[in-house]
Amino acid sequence: MKRFSALILYLVMILSLASSLAEETGETGALETNGKIVVLATGGTIAGVGDAGKTAGYKPGTLTAEELLLAVPELAEVAPIEAIQVCNVNSDDITAEVWLTLANTINELADDPEVKGFVITHGTDTMEETAYFLNLTVKTDKPVVLTGSMRPATSISADGPMNLYEAVCVAASDEAVGKGVLIVFSDRIYAARSVTKTSTYNVMAISAGETGAIGVVRDGIVFLYETPSRKHTTEAEFDLTGLSALPNVSILYFSVDADPELLRFAAEHSDGLVIAGAGAGEFSEKWIDIINGLSIPVIISSRIDDGVITKDNLLCGNTVAANNLSPQKAAILLRLALTKDTNQEYLEELYLQY
Ligand code: ASP
Repeated sequence: MKRFSALILYLVMILSLASSLAEETGETGALETNGKIVVLATGGTIAGVGDAGKTAGYKPGTLTAEELLLAVPELAEVAPIEAIQVCNVNSDDITAEVWLTLANTINELADDPEVKGFVITHGTDTMEETAYFLNLTVKTDKPVVLTGSMRPATSISADGPMNLYEAVCVAASDEAVGKGVLIVFSDRIYAARSVTKTSTYNVMAISAGETGAIGVVRDGIVFLYETPSRKHTTEAEFDLTGLSALPNVSILYFSVDADPELLRFAAEHSDGLVIAGAGAGEFSEKWIDIINGLSIPVIISSRIDDGVITKDNLLCGNTVAANNLSPQKAAILLRLALTKDTNQEYLEELYLQY
């Protein structure tokens, strides 16, 4: 009941905000962009509804794309928007099927000269994974920007509306063209390859470790300072044509006494493995023995956020260094790589290029 009233209160609030802005702007709004932004909504906390004012214990993926947009009437001044509801889930329930739908939809709509860019609303838990998958599979220079929130729409000082506003501003900007897939969160702009979630609760939950943000947004103005240099989007070699699923890759996390039987089991049920090793991708003698005997591709990453793993760090000759990709991103690159080739030299080259 409390949740229902919170939702009603929220909707009344955004509807009155929307109508007051429409009155102010006469609904025309001075559009600064020469194309529309397509908003693809997938759910997450940004679409979450819970007890009025509270930040935890809510249901993610409740509000629709239209309801999210109504909460930000200021968007009328940025660009015309088309909303598409792709799914409405907690981002822990995002699947490869959703990734394929997103990539195929963007690839199809990107040819439309009236489309200026794309914004994807998404839960923060796996936002970095969807961003990196799209970074490797969308075939367009047009901006593709993901955003979400840490607080549900019904909380005090929800962060979703500002994040959505800034994401649309970035997607509508010329500066973001050709920069690969981006995440906009708490006033900062991040590149898909390096961005990661770094807090379970804080509104500054998205960050990018050693490399940092590549730009900022202030009152709708976009400032980009860096250009991602690894291959992405139009330069990437992966082709989703005809694909309805992706190869299965498992991530194994090493810790003291980690059960080697789990590793053996995962290898039997996967097309490839990623190891989240300790330090520079290390693990016990027991794990070394099993990995040495595997014939599926094994990529070595680290459970440490910062730093790089090179060929010289590897404990097993049949493995490939993930360079500085996190285990979850190394797994995405492997899933795509396996649609083309399983050859070790090919994989080594990929992890140096992407
Ligand atoms: N569990 C939520 C999700 O990823 C968290 C969030 O959106 O912040 O969908």
